[in-house]
Amino acid sequence: LPAGLKKPPWLRQRAPSGARFEYLSASLGGLKLNTVCEEAMCPNVGECWNGDTGTATVMLLGDTCTRGCRFCAVNTAQKPPPPDEDEPENTAHAIAEWGVGYIVLTSVDRDDIPDGGSEHFARTVRTLKRIKSSVLVEALTPDFQGDMDAVAHLARSGLDVFAHNVETVERLQKRVRDPRAGYEQSLSVLRHAKESKEGLVTKTSIMLGLGETDDEIKECMRACKEAGVDIFTLGQYLQPTSNHLPVSEFVTPEKFDYWKKFGEEEIGFRYVASGPLVRSSYKAGEFFIESMLR
Ligand code: SF4
Ligand code: SF4
Repeated sequence: LPAGLKKPPWLRQRAPSGARFEYLSASLGGLKLNTVCEEAMCPNVGECWNGDTGTATVMLLGDTCTRGCRFCAVNTAQKPPPPDEDEPENTAHAIAEWGVGYIVLTSVDRDDIPDGGSEHFARTVRTLKRIKSSVLVEALTPDFQGDMDAVAHLARSGLDVFAHNVETVERLQKRVRDPRAGYEQSLSVLRHAKESKEGLVTKTSIMLGLGETDDEIKECMRACKEAGVDIFTLGQYLQPTSNHLPVSEFVTPEKFDYWKKFGEEEIGFRYVASGPLVRSSYKAGEFFIESMLR
């Protein structure tokens, strides 16, 4: 951490507990599911798994990314191993058996695959909806290098929520994200997903504590709203290793509350989740249902 910056008490990790958490944790062993919740040792696992709906995040398309963003600890390579062709069916069956009510399917960026993995995601969604239609499905997607056919294909696959993260405000894009990613490209992905499927809910997320100003956050929210985004989330950036971008600021829980109010009341998002430990998928099931009831 930069001199004088101490990790504040509100970022303390909470030990997971609860009946549903215990059940999901115990039953995961026999299923071949790579949950981001467990692998990234996410501090929210108790709350997410134990929620009324039960939310978890599963990784598709391997663990090696073709990009290298300065905030992300994922492995990178020019040519990662080819995707497992059976993964969509196997993953869908495992999720159906497991017992969560809301699943977030996500992946690394696969710029080496012609459609960026769009059909791989779509096949997972279709299979899961066929065998267990009650599971709500969110895809948290790469930008598909701006390939709008790939975006539309996934948007029309039968999923409930299309999520793609702009990650940070406009000015900090180059500093924070891989140079192949960008603000306009990400906004276009969100806009196109929304336009591809009537009634589709879209969602995006930014990290705070990277040096952004309040005005820049407001501008970012306005741009996302204009791109049709329904759900907006904000969380604290945490530096994964000393080789990654340093934290500029620990934003207080009160300030996060302010952003929730601002986003819902001034910008008009259908739902805003905002807090130090909020991640794009944090309690996504509960929040999705709450947003639909509004
Ligand atoms: Fe899993 Fe996301 Fe919740 Fe963390 S925030 S426990 S990764 S669903
Ligand atoms: Fe990490 Fe995604 Fe960037 Fe790849 S594209 S390095 S997975 S944030």
